[in-house]
Amino acid sequence: MYKITSDEIRTIFLEYFQKHNHKKISESSVIPENDPTLLFINSGMAPLKNYFTGEEVPPASNLCNIQPCIRTIDIDDIGDRHHLTSFEMLGSWSFNNYFKEDAIKLAFELLTEGFKIPKEKLYATVFMGSKELNLEPDTESIEIWQKVGMDRSHIVPQPFEDNFWGPTAETGPCGPCTEVFYDTGEEFGEAYVEGGVFDTKKRYIEIWNAGVFMQLNKLADGTYEPLKFKSVDTGAGLERLTMTLNKLNSVYEIDSLRPIVEIIKKQCASLNPDSDIPEQKINILSDHLRTVTILLAAGAVPSNTGRGYVPRKLIRKCCTILAKYKMDNFNFQEVLDRVIEHYKKYYSHFETNRKQIHDVFNKEVESYSAVLKDGTARIEKMCEGKTTISGKDAFVLVTSYGLPFDFIQDYAAEHGMTIDKEEYDNEIKHHKEISKLGNNEEGGSGNSLEALKGMAANFTKTVFVGYEELSCTGHVIGIIKDNEEVEAALANEQAIIVTDKSCFYAESGGQIADTGVMDSGDMQLQVTDVKKVDDIFFHFVNILNGQARIDQTVNMKVDAERRTKIEANHSAVHLLQKALRIHLGDSVKQAGSLVTDDRLRFDFHCDKKLESDVLDAIEATVNQFISENYTRDVKETTYEQAVKEGALAFFSDKYSDLVRMVSFGDVSKELCGGTHISSTGRIGFCKIISEESAGRGIRRIVALTRKEAVAYVQEELKLLNDISAKLRVPKKQILSKLDTLGTKKEQPINVEFSVMTKEQISKKTMQGANGISYMTNEYAAMTDEVRDEAIRVAEIIKGVVCFYSIADGKVQLTIAIDKELSKTCNANGVIKKALAYLDGKGGGSAYLARGSGNNANGLKDMLENFKTFF
Ligand code: ATP
Ligand code: MG
Repeated sequence: MYKITSDEIRTIFLEYFQKHNHKKISESSVIPENDPTLLFINSGMAPLKNYFTGEEVPPASNLCNIQPCIRTIDIDDIGDRHHLTSFEMLGSWSFNNYFKEDAIKLAFELLTEGFKIPKEKLYATVFMGSKELNLEPDTESIEIWQKVGMDRSHIVPQPFEDNFWGPTAETGPCGPCTEVFYDTGEEFGEAYVEGGVFDTKKRYIEIWNAGVFMQLNKLADGTYEPLKFKSVDTGAGLERLTMTLNKLNSVYEIDSLRPIVEIIKKQCASLNPDSDIPEQKINILSDHLRTVTILLAAGAVPSNTGRGYVPRKLIRKCCTILAKYKMDNFNFQEVLDRVIEHYKKYYSHFETNRKQIHDVFNKEVESYSAVLKDGTARIEKMCEGKTTISGKDAFVLVTSYGLPFDFIQDYAAEHGMTIDKEEYDNEIKHHKEISKLGNNEEGGSGNSLEALKGMAANFTKTVFVGYEELSCTGHVIGIIKDNEEVEAALANEQAIIVTDKSCFYAESGGQIADTGVMDSGDMQLQVTDVKKVDDIFFHFVNILNGQARIDQTVNMKVDAERRTKIEANHSAVHLLQKALRIHLGDSVKQAGSLVTDDRLRFDFHCDKKLESDVLDAIEATVNQFISENYTRDVKETTYEQAVKEGALAFFSDKYSDLVRMVSFGDVSKELCGGTHISSTGRIGFCKIISEESAGRGIRRIVALTRKEAVAYVQEELKLLNDISAKLRVPKKQILSKLDTLGTKKEQPINVEFSVMTKEQISKKTMQGANGISYMTNEYAAMTDEVRDEAIRVAEIIKGVVCFYSIADGKVQLTIAIDKELSKTCNANGVIKKALAYLDGKGGGSAYLARGSGNNANGLKDMLENFKTFF
């Protein structure tokens, strides 16, 4: 049925470029590694950024691959003919090698000969130049397209917004691009005539950005200079090629998407035969479920912020659509499995993570169904008899009930209501400002990480020598104060220092940064933190003496003892991961980790709490690995080789072929950029100190190593010794002793509070043990009558009596305890604790104590906490 399958297109593309001297490299995970500036990998070139700036050397000067991409930016276009939130990009690149001529030649030849597209069907856009920005039109490309055989009338000059790429930051490599469009025919719109409008929305579909020609470097003053070395970046959408080569109306008809659409259509028809769910909604469901599967396969976990928010949003959108068309029992599994079936042919982690994809997805749907149910009831109640949903109500529905704003909007539209959007936006803005106050990311140097990202382009990459060395010499190439680059920083100032070389590990992969010192002559500074953006190391420092200056040569020294502790903890994380897999199965997957000098934290996907015997067994295994003293082995190898050797990795996180594999004998092999202890024996001892939930479906283990672990165990043992001494039984008998004490304590101690007056006492209006309640402000609780009465009542109720009175801001207390009870519960101790709330003084015996305090404001808290005093 298909003239050409997407599989054939992949093969033709890769074979063609490999035949033309392009090295095929492996794809990257859609979740970017070490690139906080990017939400998801959105193009083939994104993981290769450093090759274009020259910061990293590519494995060959021409490369090609197929890269899965996520484009959340296109989310609003989903449901049209040709935009998807996820697609695969066929990419080819040349670094400092061939340029426009060969790039266009290769593209035209592959399209017309490889894919056999008649050239009449093809159009190419080129950059028309910009007078305003002083940028020349790309006449070269026009000439080359004509030379290879494209008619001039099919070459369309386009403005800066459409055909000029980059830079990704304020400054950096950029240049004109040329894009190839496919003419899908007159049924989709008017033909393009030279000088007229070129409709790229319906009739002409972009299939290939056949060349971003990086030839310029944008400078900070907004001008452009020629780039030292030129490169070409191209990318073609596999789905769009499959659509156009098969002359299909939309991407939803291609071989990889159609089966998904069919499954969804069939289910919708059977769940609600009368529904008139539009085709566009089916397409949205198909797109979103496919993207969610890709994200979950890569290890994304739905959450309310950052990367986790995208799968959450997509899943919620699907649920909202299905709820609207009353298709509550939709079988998502069938759809996810179909997506997995397709992708597992190309990417092995889809099969490996199948269970996890389903589990995470199901949980999210389950919890969101509850949100929808609860939220719908709430919205109905809020809107009763109203024509407008106020911004405040909408805000509460979104923030407290978790309803998406879209859902509220749909509800309003369906019920003929309006929403006060302006008020809603103001509420959200206000909320964000408040949250920011409590979440200050700024360091003491007044520099935000956000600002550093913008500055990274100003510096060359830092050479990191800290795997081998704990001290080194480097040059200061940048000093930043209050988000501004400066020439020098003085004693007692805080600043950020960038050096050409560093032995300080920068926080990444869950491992905290090194600290230490730098000096130069009489200049001394303390390094308190190190962050890394695009491999530029930003050292957060306090200048202690002298002056730090640009170009200064500095001696750097890492705090070695602290580094060793961090390394021990990091290596223990690896051993722990292995032990977890041994005891819980290979499906254990890391969800996050934190390695500091005083502890290690490991989060992993797991549905249930670990029983203490399982935890003990895991801890024993980790300590066995420690005592077996495996030597650290670090090697750089290809991703494929590392996986072959059994390294733990869930996707290839590095585009270049080399990855860093850290092994301890045969027990642990992981792809890891962190620093590690030279042999497991040096970890000494590892003690798990807690196991708890860290979010839905995620457990968290916290553990200590070395001195910290020993100190922890000693302290716990000391506590046990103290308890044993206090109970006057050997440790082994503590439990049985507690059991006997426990039975005695089963009846709760009876407590009575009362405010009383002298007259009331004298009138003896108190009625029995319970129900004593006198209200007055008279100054009376320390009279002898009160004392006698308290003792009498305490005996009657066999409990504790607290009489108090308030006058002139002072509080007086009398506490009496039944004599028998006072053997275990001492009135003198109780009143000391009570008076602490009242800034008071007093005391007494085991069964009677009296005192007064000057702070009547503490009374309420005192009464609330009273039962904790004994
Ligand atoms: P458009 O203007 O159509 O959104 P684009 O200019 O954003 O495309 P590029 O960034 O140049 O596209 O990406 C290169 C190629 O990737 C495109 O030529 C197209 O084939 C494909 N592509 C881009 N965005 C999408 C998408 N959302 N869904 C499917 N394919 C896409
Ligand atoms: Mg686009």
